[in-house]
Amino acid sequence: MSCYLDYNASAPLLDIAKEKMIDSLNKIGNPSSVHTSGRAAREVIEESRDIIASLVGALPKDVIFTSGATEANRLALVGADKVMATTIEHDSISQQPNIEFLPVNSDGRLNLLALEEFFENKKKIKQIGVTIVSVMLANNETGIVQPVAKASNIAHLNGCYLHCDAVQAGGRINIDMEELGCDMLTLSSHKIGGPKGAGALIIKDEINLSPMMYGGGQERRIRPGTEPVYAIAGFGAAAEHAIKLPLKKTYKIRDYFEEYVCKSVPDTVVIGKNTNRLPNTTLLCLPKSKSETMVIALDLEGFEVSSGAACSSGKVEPSKVLVAMGVKKEMSQGSIRVSFDNTINQNDAKRFAKSWAKIAKRF
Ligand code: PMP
Repeated sequence: MSCYLDYNASAPLLDIAKEKMIDSLNKIGNPSSVHTSGRAAREVIEESRDIIASLVGALPKDVIFTSGATEANRLALVGADKVMATTIEHDSISQQPNIEFLPVNSDGRLNLLALEEFFENKKKIKQIGVTIVSVMLANNETGIVQPVAKASNIAHLNGCYLHCDAVQAGGRINIDMEELGCDMLTLSSHKIGGPKGAGALIIKDEINLSPMMYGGGQERRIRPGTEPVYAIAGFGAAAEHAIKLPLKKTYKIRDYFEEYVCKSVPDTVVIGKNTNRLPNTTLLCLPKSKSETMVIALDLEGFEVSSGAACSSGKVEPSKVLVAMGVKKEMSQGSIRVSFDNTINQNDAKRFAKSWAKIAKRF
């Protein structure tokens, strides 16, 4: 039986989310209609909005539903004259126009001095208009948690907003928008066990965002268009599950998983081993190996994982995250991301370590 260890790509749809979605498919009305069927559909959306707001310590009225995190990230930044983001952000951030990159240190965390220096050196915020600093809460490849609260503080002192892509942190660590001090925050449904095709941008009331589209009055006119009631229903159910998750248990699983793997092949390097990381993510590097070969070999052994390296048009590039951290090429080309939830057990970890050792012999 195959063991799915790629939750950071997409978490399996939870039964509770599936049930809510099926139930919501019977709500035939348009949520904007005032009649009984319309109001029944609206109720599903508002119930999800309440739960998602409480997952991140926000107010329900601040939650804007989108088609996913890619859209939410674009929506957050579309009106900015300048975006400043770390070199390790997801492509939905790093491919924005008008972007300037902030380096990370060798521990994979944003270099806060570089952010301070940017403001000090240039002092041109007034000239460049609205500047948004975008810092992810946890990296999708390494799981390393970023100093978002400190970055918010620096951004605010310099009259800028802070946006946080919290996609990988949802349901894996506690998220409190107030504590993080962020003005906008992105979530994705399918990373927390909800359906694909739903996400949210949570925006503080005082922020005046430019919509990407024009249409009806849905989602405070910031994101017009009839809402996908079933997808939002599933997203809400997954968020409710995330609120109740015993997070401590996942840290324990991650730690014995890493222990077994490193014992089985002592050359294995766990990226960010001593840095604050998500409890569900382990990025393993095997020197002189090739990620794409490892992914296939592990699949044949019954483990579905993902490669840290990016493959486009047949050419495998080293992971941009590892390059940004200064990890050597011979190491970063053999990186494997393992991501899970708290349902994997010691047996799975032992079996994985055995397969890892078997595959490592080939390199
Ligand atoms: N941000 C991060 C950090 C991600 O990992 C992803 C998905 N890989 C996204 C944004 C985009 O999410 P979605 O699939 O919901 O568009």
